[in-house]
Amino acid sequence: MESKIREVAAGIYQLYLPLPMRPSIVNVYLVRDQDEWALIDTGMHSEDSIATLKACLEEVGCPPTSIRKLICTHHHADHFGASRAHKELTGAEVYLNPLEVARVERMQSSTPMPEAIAFFRSHGIPLPESGDGLPAPGRYFGTLYAPILPEHPLHDGESVYIGSRELQVVWTPGHTSGHCCFYFPQDKVFIVGDHLLPKITPHVGVYPGGPDNPLQDFLHSQVKVQKLDVELVLPAHGAVFKDHRHRAQQIIQHHKYRLQEIQDATKGHPRSAYEISLEIFNLSKESPIFHFMAATFETLAHLHLLMYDGKVKRVEEDSKVTFAAA
Ligand SMILES: [Zn+2]
Repeated sequence: MESKIREVAAGIYQLYLPLPMRPSIVNVYLVRDQDEWALIDTGMHSEDSIATLKACLEEVGCPPTSIRKLICTHHHADHFGASRAHKELTGAEVYLNPLEVARVERMQSSTPMPEAIAFFRSHGIPLPESGDGLPAPGRYFGTLYAPILPEHPLHDGESVYIGSRELQVVWTPGHTSGHCCFYFPQDKVFIVGDHLLPKITPHVGVYPGGPDNPLQDFLHSQVKVQKLDVELVLPAHGAVFKDHRHRAQQIIQHHKYRLQEIQDATKGHPRSAYEISLEIFNLSKESPIFHFMAATFETLAHLHLLMYDGKVKRVEEDSKVTFAAA
């Protein structure tokens, strides 16, 4: 098998684990200090991904039981989906922000909650009438998501030690409400999960039970990370890169442009978030319902920020929600 592990900084290794969907690779990181190791993020729970991880551990000479900590950026399937299997393999203690823990159970449900269905319909998402066709996160990921509840909550500003190596937790809400990045002050290395990706922007959406203005949180988190002194950025998707401030600024610009586009789309007659998303995102009719949902959630995140800024108004009538220019 071709090597899937590379030392990107002294004692910090990047592992490329396969995903059965796009993006097709997730990077997880092994961090070492003398005999103690930690694994940052897990990959998805697939045979392919677990076999790749095991091969990487062998290649680098890391016995699974020397991994004492499993520290995760957020609860999504490619970051936390194999946490149960990895816990069993290593016996490591599992770390995750408490706001993520609340989502873990929801992600596994194979029947959608009635309030979620009402939420989707109110925003115009055309759902099938039959119960079987209704979307639920547990159906989308199936066995790819096999999480375990963490023992340790991760809080903003706290330090976790891998041997004597310090990892500082930087809470970066936005992509998810409890998303955390990890900063290594001695090395000026920054593991950023999905917060700061070199080529794509992470999904930021309003969804049932989530925060009301996540895009505002996300943009604040992009400002927050620029205060750190960083020499190397280690993202969950794509290659390592250097200039985190430049990339954070680009991501902020991308959303400013999209905010303008979506504000323009509210001029004229009031429309649902779903209708606006069809104009903004390129989706084909054959796209799975989850893609339409993600596009609607992302559009809603922009609409809500515009609403809080007084640029757009939300109208609710007969349990249908539409948006119009304020
Ligand atoms: Zn994610």
